[in-house]
Amino acid sequence: MAEKRNLKKVFDQHVELEDFFTGFSVHPHTFAKKGGSELSQAQDKAADTAPHQNGNKGVGVKSDKPAQPAGSQNDDNDVIAQLNQIAKEVDACRKCELGNLRTHSVPGEGNPHAAIVFVGEGPGADEDAQGRPFVGRAGQLLDRVIAAMGLKRSDVYICNIIKCRPPENRDPRPEEIISCLPFLKKQLQLIHPKIIVALGAHAAKTLLETNKPIGQLRGKFQDFYFDDFSPPIKLMPTFHTAYLLRNYSHENRMKVWEDMKTVLSELGLPVPKGRG
Ligand code: URA
Repeated sequence: MAEKRNLKKVFDQHVELEDFFTGFSVHPHTFAKKGGSELSQAQDKAADTAPHQNGNKGVGVKSDKPAQPAGSQNDDNDVIAQLNQIAKEVDACRKCELGNLRTHSVPGEGNPHAAIVFVGEGPGADEDAQGRPFVGRAGQLLDRVIAAMGLKRSDVYICNIIKCRPPENRDPRPEEIISCLPFLKKQLQLIHPKIIVALGAHAAKTLLETNKPIGQLRGKFQDFYFDDFSPPIKLMPTFHTAYLLRNYSHENRMKVWEDMKTVLSELGLPVPKGRG
């Protein structure tokens, strides 16, 4: 009986998600143009630099365009080569036990010049099986959120705080996060996004070095610092899509949508109409 109810819940969620996070917003006529008809530079950049996967577990990225993002001094090929190098290092890493327990490492994937980087917690079973981030149910919801923003998955970069799956999907341990964090920091330094979206408490607390609950952090931009010398990058904490699936209320979805609208506005991108 309980199983039947669960199946129904999953089915209902699926139907609702289709409507809530995609159907209403992916078509250009639903865009509310902000400040005139021109798409912002950020949107142009995102569209121009959509990556091509190179078959390396979706890790690598290749672009035939010269480097052009504002704020990045890194040469295009160089960024791609260095991201691939990080992926290799992640794969070879055995600094914690997770390296020996996982099937595939999951370094991350996406646009090397993304204006937005989504950072989750760590790979689950589906990600571990495929070596790609956010490909399970939480990932499908993330895809819908991205589509609702008027973007494609290939416009953004997606990765995690830890790069190997903890057994039984347990929370990552502090020592695992500490071992793995340098990989993420290098990725963020190379991509140099305009905005980091921290999905869930683990990502937000780790990157902001705080113990505040995600409910308090979300909704406003916070500052992420690489080090004591570089200027901060804006970070938007929001609920993890896995949390959304477990706590599937209209209120929670609206909160995530509000956070994403704030991100779009900050980038000067059109904010799709349709959800308040
Ligand atoms: N949850 C995460 O935090 N990351 C993934 O890649 C998938 C699910």
